[in-house]
Amino acid sequence: MHEMSLCEGVLHIIEREARTQGFGRVKTVWLEIGALAGVEPEAMRFCFDAVMRGSLADGARLEIIALPGLAWCLPCGENVGVSQLYDVCPRCGSHQLQIVGGDQMRIKELEVE
Ligand SMILES: [Zn+2]
Repeated sequence: MHEMSLCEGVLHIIEREARTQGFGRVKTVWLEIGALAGVEPEAMRFCFDAVMRGSLADGARLEIIALPGLAWCLPCGENVGVSQLYDVCPRCGSHQLQIVGGDQMRIKELEVE
């Protein structure tokens, strides 16, 4: 389950931010997760609670913001929405798609005190 190491990465970022910004507790974490990031939101929630336990984000709320997948279609010459990697273009059925968005996960915001 790679969500566990992703959550550990999130905790590292939070700890670094806490040092530079000088906050002591995190109440809410907003995570943006792209549809193509290969991250399971439910697994993420499960791991989040476990990883944050005993840290400055112990008991913090996890808010997941799902971002749609976006790809550039060569034949159409424009961006189209895709829900999975290796999907075909929903307009023309082409495989000549290049992923341009929704393949990442990042911390959007932290509510701290
Ligand atoms: Zn197309």
